[in-house]
Amino acid sequence: MRRKYICGNWKMNKTSSEARDFAEKINEFDFENVDVLLAPSFVSLESFRKILNKKIEVSAQNLSQFEDGAYTGEVSTSMLKDIGVENVIIGHSERREKFFESNEIVNAKVKKALADDFRVILCLGEALEVKAKNKEVDFVKDELLKSLDGIENIENITIAYEPIWAIGTGKTCSADDAEKMCREIRQIINKNYGEISEKIRILYGGSVKPSNAREILSQENIDGVLVGGASLDVDSFIEIIKAGESL
Ligand code: PEP
Repeated sequence: MRRKYICGNWKMNKTSSEARDFAEKINEFDFENVDVLLAPSFVSLESFRKILNKKIEVSAQNLSQFEDGAYTGEVSTSMLKDIGVENVIIGHSERREKFFESNEIVNAKVKKALADDFRVILCLGEALEVKAKNKEVDFVKDELLKSLDGIENIENITIAYEPIWAIGTGKTCSADDAEKMCREIRQIINKNYGEISEKIRILYGGSVKPSNAREILSQENIDGVLVGGASLDVDSFIEIIKAGESL
């Protein structure tokens, strides 16, 4: 069985001192049966990682597809590795929509991350207009295959299905619909990559909170959650970890 993966994406929230307060509180909570990851801002990564319980993985929210050089404002894989960070979220819908990251850019970032031995959480998901036309499966398939174009080994990739209309809106996709899409994604991976589809973890993200986490996490093809808003509060994030542990 795939271990449940409880991941928090803080986006552009929390200063380094707020991150430290969070770390001190979550360090007091023990868990055994799930994997946990948190993605603070770039500026907090190093100090956060140093004080955080070593059981919790720390992740960047983005990285550059370039090695180094004249890319003002960008952060490279070697800068992240140097501070002990080897996880990254790539292709979040906010990066795709607000920072114009195309599938080609996402693909270049995934390739760069894998080449430098990062573990990647690759985000996919349709907008409301796509869902309204019942085209969500085609859309997600296209995003998945284009984001993975030319990549042969996907063992260090986790997929996060995050319907855009459910992110930060309070509207959750029903557990049934989330399961259906995650099953579709597993089948697409199976067709293109074979048996590894049974090992790859597929997460759901979009308004996950303590009250709905258990139902979502209990679905067969949902191996974890990527949590935005509810990961900012240490108590609610712990409740979501407990939901994963209870299964
Ligand atoms: C996210 O940022 O990936 C996310 C799912 O946000 P929220 O949980 O706030 O909807």
